[in-house]
Amino acid sequence: MTHPQGPVLAADRRGFLLASAGLAAGVALGGLPRRAQAAPLALPPLPFADNALAPVISANTLGFHYGKHHMGYLTNLNKLIAGTELAELPLEKIVAAVAGKADKVGIFNNAAQTWNHSFYWKSLKPQGGGEPPAALKQMMEASFGSVEACKKELAATAVGQFASGWGWLVADGGKLKVVKTGNADTPLTSSMKPLLTIDVWEHAYYLDYQNRRADYVNAVIDKLINWEFALHNLG
Ligand code: MN
Repeated sequence: MTHPQGPVLAADRRGFLLASAGLAAGVALGGLPRRAQAAPLALPPLPFADNALAPVISANTLGFHYGKHHMGYLTNLNKLIAGTELAELPLEKIVAAVAGKADKVGIFNNAAQTWNHSFYWKSLKPQGGGEPPAALKQMMEASFGSVEACKKELAATAVGQFASGWGWLVADGGKLKVVKTGNADTPLTSSMKPLLTIDVWEHAYYLDYQNRRADYVNAVIDKLINWEFALHNLG
């Protein structure tokens, strides 16, 4: 903590007393509000029980994925931003603030991965998949020709992401699109609006499917994907 000390304060007894009281209360000298130590970002709770996605995604996978991987990104992020101005921003603003900055890659990777994972959990639900809500279905048909064609492209894109990354359904200029991103990259920093995502890092499926990424992706789309969440994000 830094604060001015010296003859001015010493000469101004009243000011000194106020300043002392202010420091104790976390208020800056001169009565200006002092930046409170920002609380670390917290991990949002999983929107379902850790066994609720089985057998498509086991409780074992969820335990590691949420409790170790997602938590790990968040813990790293909180360490990297502690005491900086970034610590006072909501997560989405942190991602935006450091995206594309060569000296902030570590912060970006951990912030974007924290955001991507929270978004991924909401993209899934027990007894998901099935028929999309009518408004989303209409957009799928307008953009891809049919719901099946949309699902097929989402699966092919997620499976086709080389190495670690994400498959996404996004809105772009009034149309739906399917895109993939590598590693921590996220459409959040683009002009596209993310609607839902599928994590295709190996840690998302390897305990349950080993190398069979396509089986994991297809099972997620058929049985877990949360179309209502996508529609909600369309706004
Ligand atoms: Mn992951």
